[in-house]
Amino acid sequence: MSMPALRQPKKRPVEAKKSPPASKTEQKKSNEPKKEPLNYLIVTLRSGKKLVVSSDSYHGILTSGELFRCVFCETEMVRDVLCKERHKSSENHRKIVESYPHVEEFNENLIRKLNGADHYCTICNVVVTTYFLHKHIAGESHMDELQMAITRALAYKPNV
Ligand SMILES: [Zn+2]
Ligand SMILES: [Zn+2]
Repeated sequence: MSMPALRQPKKRPVEAKKSPPASKTEQKKSNEPKKEPLNYLIVTLRSGKKLVVSSDSYHGILTSGELFRCVFCETEMVRDVLCKERHKSSENHRKIVESYPHVEEFNENLIRKLNGADHYCTICNVVVTTYFLHKHIAGESHMDELQMAITRALAYKPNV
């Protein structure tokens, strides 16, 4: 009986990753924090049209430096996912969000009117001043985001 030769896992030298020619101007996303799972929400318009946006967009949570900011409650919190989720599910926040409904006139663009001269674009997760609002909605980046929200809705399967 011959003993089967012990298989030694081949030790492969770790291939040195060839870093792409780094142009010094494009050093973004190098020290990004761990990716959070992105939660999505479905928004159904009165017309029956469906859009899927990220939960943070829907809830008006912006990231600003080391903080999360809720545009509706006008409150800031430490950049901690648990903290953020707790805020989003708080009754107080939910009530406040409800008091800023999507403006009918802007339909699928999901614009909420904030206090003062600001509007919030749920599609893009940005605050836009009234002055720039129409320009924003007609802009390429908003159009792209909107298209993505529509496309996601076509593939969206709610968690059962
Ligand atoms: Zn809030
Ligand atoms: Zn937008």
